[in-house]
Amino acid sequence: MNLRYPKNLHFECQRCAKCCGDGSHRGRNILLLESEVKRISKTTGSRPLSFASRSLSVQPYRYRMKKRGGKCVFLYGKACRIYKIRPLICRFYPFSLKKGSNGYKFEFSEKCPGIDIGNALKKSDFERMFEEAKKILQYS
Ligand code: SF4
Repeated sequence: MNLRYPKNLHFECQRCAKCCGDGSHRGRNILLLESEVKRISKTTGSRPLSFASRSLSVQPYRYRMKKRGGKCVFLYGKACRIYKIRPLICRFYPFSLKKGSNGYKFEFSEKCPGIDIGNALKKSDFERMFEEAKKILQYS
């Protein structure tokens, strides 16, 4: 299996919560798997449609997170109220996994303030993320 990833990239999350909502020039879509919506609903006791809208445009995602004032409805200040069960898209940010004709590729958003800070990510970091994505998407 061919897995491509950015080489010698440094990253350390700054806990700025910029990825939890819209930016000044671009909206942020927090896409959700059906399994994630069920887990969040069960854990928070909230009805799915109170925090998510149906959205079938990007497979395998079935919902998108609702926002309040441009920010995720579960964000309080800079704290995520569902951090332990946060969706795959939030776990991976600033990285995203794309499937191509000859394998998978990790891309990243240069807008994230954590890029170019901290330790360089290793091949094993991307392999671990890939395994996590595979496990979650398989059971979604
Ligand atoms: S992933 Fe990036 S944008 Fe999101 S909280 Fe961390 S540093 Fe900020």
